[in-house]
Amino acid sequence: MLHPDPFTVRALLGDEAAVARRAISGEIGVALPPLADHHVHGHLVDLAKVFLGGIAAVIDLGGDPAALFRAERAVPHIDYAGAFLTAPGGYPAGRAWAPPAIVREIGRSSGEGATGSAPTAVDEQADFGASVIKVALNADAGPVVDAHTLAAVVARAHERGLPVVAHAQGAGMTRLAVEAGVDALAHTPFTEAVDDALLRGALDRGQVWISTLAIHDGPALPRAVDNLRRFAAAGGRVLYGTDLGNGPQPLGVNAAEVRLLLAADLDGAAVIAALADPWPRAAVLHGVSTFVPGAPPASLAEVPDWLAGARVVPTEELVPDDQ
Ligand SMILES: [Zn+2]
Repeated sequence: MLHPDPFTVRALLGDEAAVARRAISGEIGVALPPLADHHVHGHLVDLAKVFLGGIAAVIDLGGDPAALFRAERAVPHIDYAGAFLTAPGGYPAGRAWAPPAIVREIGRSSGEGATGSAPTAVDEQADFGASVIKVALNADAGPVVDAHTLAAVVARAHERGLPVVAHAQGAGMTRLAVEAGVDALAHTPFTEAVDDALLRGALDRGQVWISTLAIHDGPALPRAVDNLRRFAAAGGRVLYGTDLGNGPQPLGVNAAEVRLLLAADLDGAAVIAALADPWPRAAVLHGVSTFVPGAPPASLAEVPDWLAGARVVPTEELVPDDQ
């Protein structure tokens, strides 16, 4: 292998990418910040294996809060939402993949000023160590909390210092999430085209979108790609996420998801930024890096398959090799 040119690597992948050598094996490759999958379900997959595929941190967006609280969280680093908060009988209650412990139904508020059980449900997740609160707004699959109850969730979560992430699906659900001040969407909107005014509202509120493009087929896929393209082009903060556990997926960086981020016109640096974003934490993990051994990609088209060869290594094992 020719020695990789550090300037070419940075031009393609941004300033976070550096040519490096592993101190013990001498293996040459590209060092990246620790990469994260911002949307997984750990009860459906073996999370320990994503570490072998270059993912250093995951955010579990719907699981049993007590099990997550007890889990060994060293490798990879796990942040989690705990249970899905949803309307009584709402999605995903009753789904085969959603045991009762991962769903917390919250009562509708009964009148002005009443908030039902929303604050208590938020407190339950927070007390089990959640770093984000997940709300299901799936109007295609049952009842959905009203705006008043959703506002109570957001208010209580923010009091506890936690962002709120919503699964928005069905007519009007992206608007409901944006207008309630929901901080993140668990999926790029895929059931409707987001119009410019609503997009502007999401951007003005600093909402972040987790990509999850590769789970779609049919008309939902181009709709989601187009929504993400316009969101990113307008300066929106995109987080790489796969909804790992939803259908068969590779354990590690998913080349199909990366390919679709490129289809949404993210460049190499933006793809790395979406993968390396520390959200919902404020700072990047210490002590580990993602390392992709071998020759770096020669073009954007090579980036997805190249990234699928990533692994997680101790940062102290990497020696800069920018010569
Ligand atoms: Zn999910």
